[in-house]
Amino acid sequence: MAGETQRIPQATSKRLPLYYRFLQNFANAGKKRISSSELSEAMKIDAATIRRDFSHFGALGRKGYGYDVNDLLQFFRQTLDQDEETDVALIGVGSLGSAFLKYNFQKNHNTRIVVAFDPKAPKEGKIVSNIPVFHPDMMEEKIKEMNINLVILTVPSRAAQDITDRLVEIDVKGILNFTPVRLTAPDWMRIHTIDLSVELQSLIYFIKNDVKDSQL
Ligand code: ATP
Repeated sequence: MAGETQRIPQATSKRLPLYYRFLQNFANAGKKRISSSELSEAMKIDAATIRRDFSHFGALGRKGYGYDVNDLLQFFRQTLDQDEETDVALIGVGSLGSAFLKYNFQKNHNTRIVVAFDPKAPKEGKIVSNIPVFHPDMMEEKIKEMNINLVILTVPSRAAQDITDRLVEIDVKGILNFTPVRLTAPDWMRIHTIDLSVELQSLIYFIKNDVKDSQL
């Protein structure tokens, strides 16, 4: 199945981690096989979309049987590269950054924050929620030394572009950007922006105007 991944549409790719999480929950509950309608019920994604997505992975459910949960999990693990641990750096340990350090993604993923940076930290570093936090002057040195490719950005807006430029210089591959700034970076760098106030505003708009997903 893994060889099929190049042709997976972007909308489908974005649902991969979600499928992975739900399938893990089903596997943890001891379920061996699952139908698209059961997944649909749990994930609130319509069954036809799930069947179409899964067909892109070469996973074809059998009528009356559904999908083998372990086969699917193995595929998602390989495709999402979740067999390997991914180390992440967090930049900006304010209110949001501290919450991420405390949460640290460990329940469902092999992804973890291993280092953080904030000007409030001394150069020699300090420990917050078991994670070392260093002054941003140490950023390039530590990120290179720890071979980190992924950064979560929770700095104030005014600092976001400057930090991004520095991350470009050391070839960091991806930024999960929680600032409202539209960051400028070369094409090879992948930036996903999650602007929490925009997300909330659009949710309020959709609720007020009773917009359904099918109308988008
Ligand atoms: P706080 O109340 O601790 O300031 P906040 O989330 O309200 O938290 P922000 O102004 O959004 O504060 O800043 C988030 C964090 O980013 C702060 O801890 C701040 O010290 C840190 N920060 C500011 N500039 C930089 C920078 N250049 N590099 C890394 N972190 C930075």
